[in-house]
Order: sequence, then structure tokens, then C-alpha cells
Amino acid sequence: PSFAELGLDPRLVQAVAKQAFEKPTLVQRKAIPLALQGQDVLCKAKTGSGKTAAYVLPLLSGILKRKSTDPSTFTAGLILVPTRELADQVFKAIEQFSAFCAKDIQATKLTENVSDAVLRSLLSIVPDIIVSTPARAWQCINSAGLSLDKLQYLVLDEADLVLSYGYDEDMENISKALPKGVQTIMMSATLSAELDTLKGIFCRNPKLLDL
Ligand code: AMP
Repeated sequence: PSFAELGLDPRLVQAVAKQAFEKPTLVQRKAIPLALQGQDVLCKAKTGSGKTAAYVLPLLSGILKRKSTDPSTFTAGLILVPTRELADQVFKAIEQFSAFCAKDIQATKLTENVSDAVLRSLLSIVPDIIVSTPARAWQCINSAGLSLDKLQYLVLDEADLVLSYGYDEDMENISKALPKGVQTIMMSATLSAELDTLKGIFCRNPKLLDL
């Protein structure tokens, strides 16, 4: 299928075309339709496979669809990444894919080691999507007033690294702040046994994509 045939919002298809992506990569072909259906997905995908677009596009599409009938703003998507570098890349991808719907999508990146007061001001715009390391996300929830009451999408990118970087406690804390029914997408370069912990905490019957 082409990007247009995957069921994404036309403004996103337009943005993908502007980036000269000719056709979806394997992970995009497999993951995007499942994610659009509301499925939890655990996907083996490494850097370079097109994994970022595989979760950013369905997230954006879902948020745009909801906003077409309910324009209220709340944080609907939380993308957790192990490093600042990956947060930068993901944030840039969100900006590029939102090129034709920029007024409908507010994204915020939270990675710097800053005070609660600074986080509060960054969160005052109520971003639709937050890209963050687990430590900063937990700080936001615990002491800077971030509400995840209406969260719809949780992404754990490079999930294997999230654990090896020692974010276990933050992840556990974050899991307790999530409402019921959040859709989780996990991307990981390996499907090691350690991932089962995160899978158990965050996923409901995930579709496994072992590509
Ligand atoms: P990622 O695996 O998400 O880090 O993506 C690796 C690189 O592939 C990025 O520079 C993307 O812009 C690019 N890319 C992602 N999807 C496609 C696609 N369908 N066609 C061409 N390039 C792509």
C-alpha cells in the first residue's frame, strides 16, 4: 500500500510526500494500520527502519480525527525516549509531519534538567504531545502539575534502552499516573526477556511485530 492507502489523515499524507518518502517501509506498513485501529503494538524495529514515522503518523492522525469533533486541548500523547538525542529527532519528525496541520498540533519536548517552575511554564500551553525522557516526564507529573487524565497514546521508543539506562523506577511511577485504556506502542531493537516487565506494565494484548 501507499501512504494514502494506510488510512492516515490527508494532511499527513501531504507532509510525507513533501519529505519525498515514496512508499512506507515494512515497519510502517505493518504498524500504522494496527495503531490506527487502536491496537497495542510491540514492534521489533531498529534505527533506520522508519520506526519514528510508524508511531508518530498514527498518533497525529488520531489526534487530528478527535479534534475534528472535539477541539478541546489536553495531552493526548506521551512519547518516552531514553536519550535527549532521540527526543530531538522525534520532535523534529513531529514538526515535519505536522507541516500541513501545525495549528492543530502542539508538541513539547522535555529533556533538559530544569526546575519545576520552568517545566510548569513549558506545560502551560497544554501540549497535545509530549516527547520526554522518563525522568523528566515523572518530574512533570509529580511536581509540575502535568495531568495525564485524558492520555490516549503512550509510546516507548528504544524500550530496551529505557530499561538499561536505569529508568525502571520512573517507568513504574509513570505507569501509576496513567488512566485506564491508554493505547501503548513499544519500539525496541531487541525483544529480550527484560522487555516483558515493561510489556506487562504498559500493554494489553499487544500485537507482536517481529520484523
Ligand atoms: P527512523 O528509523 O525512524 O530513525 O528513520 C530513519 C530515516 O529514514 C529518517 O531519516 C527518515 O526520515 C527516513 N524515512 C522514514 N520513513 C521513510 C520512508 N517511508 N521513505 C523514505 N525515507 C524514510
